[in-house]
Amino acid sequence: MRAAFRLSDLFVPTLKEDPSEAEVASHRLMLRAGMIRKAASGIYTFLPLGWRSLRKIENIVREEMDAIGSQEMLMPAVQPAELWLESGRWGVYGPELMRLKDRHGREFCLGPTHEEIITATIRNEVRSYRQLPMSLYQIQVKFRDEVRPRFGLLRGREFIMKDAYSFHADQESLQEHYDAQAGAYGRICERLGLEFRPVKADSGQIGGSETTEFMALADNGEAALVYCDCGWAANVEAASTVVPRHPAVTERRAMEKVHTPDIRTIAELSEALDITEHDTVKTMAGKTPEGRLVFLLVPGDRELNRLKADNAVPGVLLLEEDDFGSLNLPKGSLGPVNVPENTLVVADSSLREEVAWGVGANENDYHLMGAMPERDFTVEIWADLVLAQPGDSCPACNGAALKGARGIEVSQVFQLGTKYSESMGATFTAEDGSEQPFLMGCYGVGVSRSLAAVIEQHNDENGITWPISVAPIEVAVIPLSADDVVSPVAEKIWSDLADAGVETGIDDRDERAGVKFADADLVGYPFQVVIGKRGVANGIVEFKNRATGERKDMPIDGVAALVADMVAKERDRYSHNAVS
Ligand code: ATP
Ligand code: MG
Repeated sequence: MRAAFRLSDLFVPTLKEDPSEAEVASHRLMLRAGMIRKAASGIYTFLPLGWRSLRKIENIVREEMDAIGSQEMLMPAVQPAELWLESGRWGVYGPELMRLKDRHGREFCLGPTHEEIITATIRNEVRSYRQLPMSLYQIQVKFRDEVRPRFGLLRGREFIMKDAYSFHADQESLQEHYDAQAGAYGRICERLGLEFRPVKADSGQIGGSETTEFMALADNGEAALVYCDCGWAANVEAASTVVPRHPAVTERRAMEKVHTPDIRTIAELSEALDITEHDTVKTMAGKTPEGRLVFLLVPGDRELNRLKADNAVPGVLLLEEDDFGSLNLPKGSLGPVNVPENTLVVADSSLREEVAWGVGANENDYHLMGAMPERDFTVEIWADLVLAQPGDSCPACNGAALKGARGIEVSQVFQLGTKYSESMGATFTAEDGSEQPFLMGCYGVGVSRSLAAVIEQHNDENGITWPISVAPIEVAVIPLSADDVVSPVAEKIWSDLADAGVETGIDDRDERAGVKFADADLVGYPFQVVIGKRGVANGIVEFKNRATGERKDMPIDGVAALVADMVAKERDRYSHNAVS
């Protein structure tokens, strides 16, 4: 379809000033470039340019899904509670799930994800192994009432996701489709111009076993990653860790109580005792769902990984500030010796190598040096508890020091196994005649988050520097005046480009040249053709490549064909064939 736009008509409300609520580049630039507007916290309207870019991402995702044999469909955004009761998630999903009632008082939720609906759909329709494997996807609005919606489209409450679900008769078939989805996800990232890294992840709320996240690398990304040159990479939350330890004390010694007035933090303690933070032990207090007190011990210089804590002690939650008062616990001086009755002591495995520990005395203003496990206290559970960090040894090649990076999770693939098919009774007749639960996989791409991630990686001080695959409009034709000399030339180039199949906007607004240039760079049209009186007199126009900043004069004759050719080459770089 011919895509020719007059910017005088197009609804692109650009802003000159940075909006104060925007903390990150993508949020700021999408507001300023007139692509989105906020309706409520974490809920946005897509204006015409935002919607065009979003649809381009959808289409790339669609092409890649179709190419691996997944079939497009559409499920409802409003889902009945009964299905969530069947899967068991109605009770565990928590306040992120937006629940509502209809006029008859029946309970529903706004879908944060669609495992329940798809499983219920398939169980009534697919009966035989002969119909498997089956893979289905949709591109649809999701709702999650996030605790902290922020960064515009990066963490919204209402957002657009592509979610695919697959059904298999055996593990081999599931693995095959999982690999195909992961391959498609890599190609999607490449076609969006994203610098990315697939990482091992934790399966969290959705459940299941094998899972990989695709991280768009960004300094302000919410996720921390560790990776090794051997190819191993993981989200720090999911990374098993080999914490290097160099025990300072290697021999038995007597336990000594040290007066440590006003010392509440590990940093203060290590300074007062003149030992490294690494040689102290940090104790955090939590409780089990049944209310049992839990002490979690990690090396003083490390952070507790809450997911690992939850694996070691299912359901454990760290105490809130108020709990310390009501339980009469000295927050800054906790330790494993003389713990309150029935306390569960859990320690990071790396501390096993430590002969004598420096710990809190469970008494304000006192610490214990030389406390020894078995002699002075008992550890009930040894477990990997710490967040991995750069410098740790790689758990795969077991030597090299890990490097760190930050990323935005743009997509994730999961092997669910039989979690949903078993709880919801979705079975098929296998080749041997037996009834078996489907093996399932699920695969999500954050479509609106990907749009923001693209901008995070492609911007400069003047605005957005799109990869052409996601740019809302490919070329801007910018006449510097509206008169008989410039206008006809500009209109002709615009129209020729559109005829050549290029998405082209002409800036025919009654604005100064400076405003037009600033807006063109802000919106980030990848190629710009500037037409002025003097140039026309000499038979030339100025061409500008937004991303590289390259400018050159081009003859008016043939400029449309030349630019159309450049657009075609640029599109090719991001096409399925170029990256598959
Ligand atoms: P996160 O850890 O960032 O909260 P998630 O792991 O809970 O995300 P998934 O359930 O894996 O998210 O959903 C698939 C994809 O949907 C994510 O990879 C992400 O790109 C996108 N997504 C999830 N939550 C949001 C959100 N609040 N706003 C925008 N996109 C989101
Ligand atoms: Mg995820």
